[in-house]
Amino acid sequence: MNKQYITTILSILFFDIVICFGQQKPNILFIMTDDHSRHAISAYGSKLVQTPNIDLLAENGILFNNCAVTNAICGPSRAVALTGKYSHINGYKDNRSNFDGNQQTFPKLLQAAGYHTMMIGKWHLHSEPQGFDYWNILIGQGSYYTPSMIENGDTLEIEGYVTDIVTDLSIAQLSARDQKKPFCLMYQQKAPHRNWMPNIKHLELFKNDTLPIPDNFFDDYDTRSSAAKGQDLEVKNMYMSFDMKLDPKTFQDSTENGTGGSKTWDAINSWKNAYKRMSETQKAEWDKYYKPLSEEFYNSSYSEKELAEWKYQRYIKDYLRCIVSVDENLGRMIDYLKETGEWENTLIIYTSDQGFFLGEHGWYDKRFMYEESLITPLIIKLPNKDSASINNDLVMNLDFAPTILDYAGIPAPKDMQGKSLKPVIEGEKLKRKGQYYHYYEFPHGWHSVKKHYGVRTDNFKLIHYYHDSSEWELFDLKNDPQEMNNIYNNTKYTSTQKELHELLIELRLLYKEE
Ligand code: CA
Repeated sequence: MNKQYITTILSILFFDIVICFGQQKPNILFIMTDDHSRHAISAYGSKLVQTPNIDLLAENGILFNNCAVTNAICGPSRAVALTGKYSHINGYKDNRSNFDGNQQTFPKLLQAAGYHTMMIGKWHLHSEPQGFDYWNILIGQGSYYTPSMIENGDTLEIEGYVTDIVTDLSIAQLSARDQKKPFCLMYQQKAPHRNWMPNIKHLELFKNDTLPIPDNFFDDYDTRSSAAKGQDLEVKNMYMSFDMKLDPKTFQDSTENGTGGSKTWDAINSWKNAYKRMSETQKAEWDKYYKPLSEEFYNSSYSEKELAEWKYQRYIKDYLRCIVSVDENLGRMIDYLKETGEWENTLIIYTSDQGFFLGEHGWYDKRFMYEESLITPLIIKLPNKDSASINNDLVMNLDFAPTILDYAGIPAPKDMQGKSLKPVIEGEKLKRKGQYYHYYEFPHGWHSVKKHYGVRTDNFKLIHYYHDSSEWELFDLKNDPQEMNNIYNNTKYTSTQKELHELLIELRLLYKEE
């Protein structure tokens, strides 16, 4: 019997013993919210909201300050998380795409290695999930109230509030699973995606507060590209019905049936459809709060500036109410893990599919390679180890899949383009010169953000808009963190500009982007 054979047999026996005696392999809880800005997490220093349960993960784990996504939009970001590959490799470049579920993903590899795998909540990849022992997904974007879901292929309508429902289903499946196997649960909330409908019980939160407005809310986009000037992301243009939730019966505004970027869209009907999903009791509670707001608005007059500020307050309060529900439900999940003794042996990752503008530059939404949208929250609680630390390396959502596999003791396939963060967490410096980004959804997409790609380093960012003209932006992130001053072709930065151009070429070659 040769040595290689003996080693293989011993490792299989070891794996069986591990499975037999239960929880030696760590459980994996992958938590993804939708459009959750770091600026709405108190562990990241939010001035807007307290998130004690997310903070608890940071108090027991590693908080990453520089986690970039590769393409700041819902579906594509999820495809990157699953595959560890850029959009141009996994095939899911924009929200019109259909995810090829036959390709390799980290849940499939975990399942093959003996994990019980589950996917519950927001999926948004159009094709059916593969690689899961159980899945129950929201249809498309998902509804805040009485959402329609597909459970292992069967469509169901579930009464209640979506963030609670996704948590209820997740806890129920954790209880019902095969307890002998380690689990991997993708627990993915729809919140706080537009149109930010809070749970009834949170309607009164922030009611009498005036929340701080970012100091670049009235940005004029001077020095920036035509893309920054031509976008359709401005809070001041939010719809009175769908976004502000004023009563459609009390107003007629021709701008409500306008466009969502390049799309023709009926905001009033979209709002009516969302409202209709509430029960009669929920509608009564909802109206008790929102109707006086509608009346107050229509009995007042606002200047253009005052109206923009009024819309910001309406927007940010509903957004934060949705976050409070996310945090509260995370607390229920943490309690469950602690009560069942699984907290210690579970690797927990908290992230969002990308960041979000909370009024910075006057905007909501994402898509741009600017900091608020590019940088997503990332907090990792390790299995069986306390580590309250902060990491500033240039990590990416490309790294999620290899990291999870590494903690599960599975070598990451060579074609995954990200890096495991385990060595970084254990003290090594991440070897990455820059974060490469590429956004594609134009001209057919929402919000009219032109296609662009670019690179971000510790100190600088270079962006190229290329759809109908070639325009460049260069930002000095240390001296201009709000990215207000485009310094491209400023002679003071000639050598930096040249280095970033070279790095961009190098990264495009590395990641096989043509
Ligand atoms: Ca999103």
